[in-house]
Amino acid sequence: MAAGGTFEACATDLRCGRVTPVPAFLLAFLVSQWALAVVAGERWVVQDQRQQTLLYSEFELDLERIWAELGEVDFELSAATGIRATDGRVEIVLFASRQSYLEYLTARVPQAAARRAIFLKNGSISQVYAYNSRSLVMDLRHEMTHVRVHQHMPYAPLWLDEGLAEYFEEEEAARPRSSRREAVRWKARLGSSPSLSSLEKIPSAEAMGAEEYRSSWAWICFLINDGAGSRQTLRNYVEEIHRGAAPGKFSEYAQAENTGLLSRANSYFRKMTFPLTFDSSGE
Ligand SMILES: [Zn+2]
Repeated sequence: MAAGGTFEACATDLRCGRVTPVPAFLLAFLVSQWALAVVAGERWVVQDQRQQTLLYSEFELDLERIWAELGEVDFELSAATGIRATDGRVEIVLFASRQSYLEYLTARVPQAAARRAIFLKNGSISQVYAYNSRSLVMDLRHEMTHVRVHQHMPYAPLWLDEGLAEYFEEEEAARPRSSRREAVRWKARLGSSPSLSSLEKIPSAEAMGAEEYRSSWAWICFLINDGAGSRQTLRNYVEEIHRGAAPGKFSEYAQAENTGLLSRANSYFRKMTFPLTFDSSGE
């Protein structure tokens, strides 16, 4: 989807969804216009910057909390998968209300109308748009995961991209209490575990529903938390794509690189435990 330097868009809806890429020529125009508009705008009551990330907001917010949450995503993502931020510019644009968000975006990106937040990428510039709601922190964690995935990898399989975003949208302490956990466990115990090969066949984001997002999340839970071996296989796969190789489908890659890994997934899904802890103290 991101191959050849084209532009991509990804967004969350009430659960999560991914937007069909807008034609590259269109987004090239749009994003360059947006970049100017964001910088020149006088509507932002908050403008702040940490490293390469700029934040513009129409409303006052707890900046320290936001930066801490996004720093946590970066730390955990790097520790678990090796995915790291690049020095590419990131712009986070926050609106005071859904109405304001829609007024700003829908004429330019109609897909935003059905979404709660959206991620756009144009070359090295990444933009995240969201609005004030109870799930703002979760939305920002989700979209920033996409930002980092697409900064680090020239392309990412859909299930991997969304699975990581779903995983890291929740703070670490909340993951064992995730409502998705019981659903996956219950179904696995009835003999219906999330199927990686089915996820790998999903042709586009439009074909992903709540079940596919949950299954992608469950596979990432397995790969990060089953043990050091599963985590290393995930890291190696990410690294292969990062350095421009074409490791193929993860299912085939894992079968060749870590015999027995995939067959352990079913027993993991019946438990869905989260033993890995990220200790960022001192960071
Ligand atoms: Zn997403």
